[in-house]
Amino acid sequence: MLPIMAGRANSDEHYVLDLCDQVIGAKCSRQHRFEWLRGDTSPATGRRVALPVDGYWEAERLVVEFAESQHTEVTPHFDKPDVLTVSGVHRGMQRALYDDRRRLLIPEHGLRLVTISATDFPLKGRTIDRDRDRDLEIVSAILKRESLICDPEHREGREQGSDEHERRPVHTALSQFVAERDWDRFHSPENLAKSISIEAGELLECFQWDDSTDHARVTEELADVLTYCLLLADKLDVDADQIVLDKLEVTRVKYPADQSRGRSTKYDQL
Ligand SMILES: [Mg+2]
Repeated sequence: MLPIMAGRANSDEHYVLDLCDQVIGAKCSRQHRFEWLRGDTSPATGRRVALPVDGYWEAERLVVEFAESQHTEVTPHFDKPDVLTVSGVHRGMQRALYDDRRRLLIPEHGLRLVTISATDFPLKGRTIDRDRDRDLEIVSAILKRESLICDPEHREGREQGSDEHERRPVHTALSQFVAERDWDRFHSPENLAKSISIEAGELLECFQWDDSTDHARVTEELADVLTYCLLLADKLDVDADQIVLDKLEVTRVKYPADQSRGRSTKYDQL
């Protein structure tokens, strides 16, 4: 078949799906076919073949499509520009048609569709320049971000949850403080990031000459750092506790407890 099929087990698609399996904690069904997702009718056989999706996690109601570079670039060899498909168009055009069909039908059937592209990773030529730990983080970030964007139900649940249960007094007090002074206008992500760094400097200043420092002053400066961190989390529309927990999951994978207990060695030297 197509040369791209050669060594499929080692393909970037399988590599990325493996990473997704690890982040999600469950194995997906690969090249899964749904009854309701079909190609165009073949004039020869009168049949409409079921179109595969790259990865499907049933419990998570999640589909991941991996976009290799030939999805976005013109690749005459694969696209066979001189051969018409059953859709009456060339292969590259048919792929775009079928991608549109997936984007339309998958959410219609109550599933989330996340597309991960080769270009989300550093590339070496046209393939991913692999670094498993770094790539795990990239995949983790995409899945977290996309699940908020793509799933209105999930998002609603989160927002309700944060209002009713998770919205802590500190969050309410901060928003009120800022609103009363109309200071939000100064709180661009860039300004808030600078402020975190400035306050972190003030925190460090407490320890400039010795460590017999004023506990009250240290906690005040720590409060300043945390305040700007919470304001930035709010500005970026992320939950501060959740992003810490998410990142902890990534770090947990990087530093297995049995290999890193009592050691400060960097993860790539473990
Ligand atoms: Mg300060």
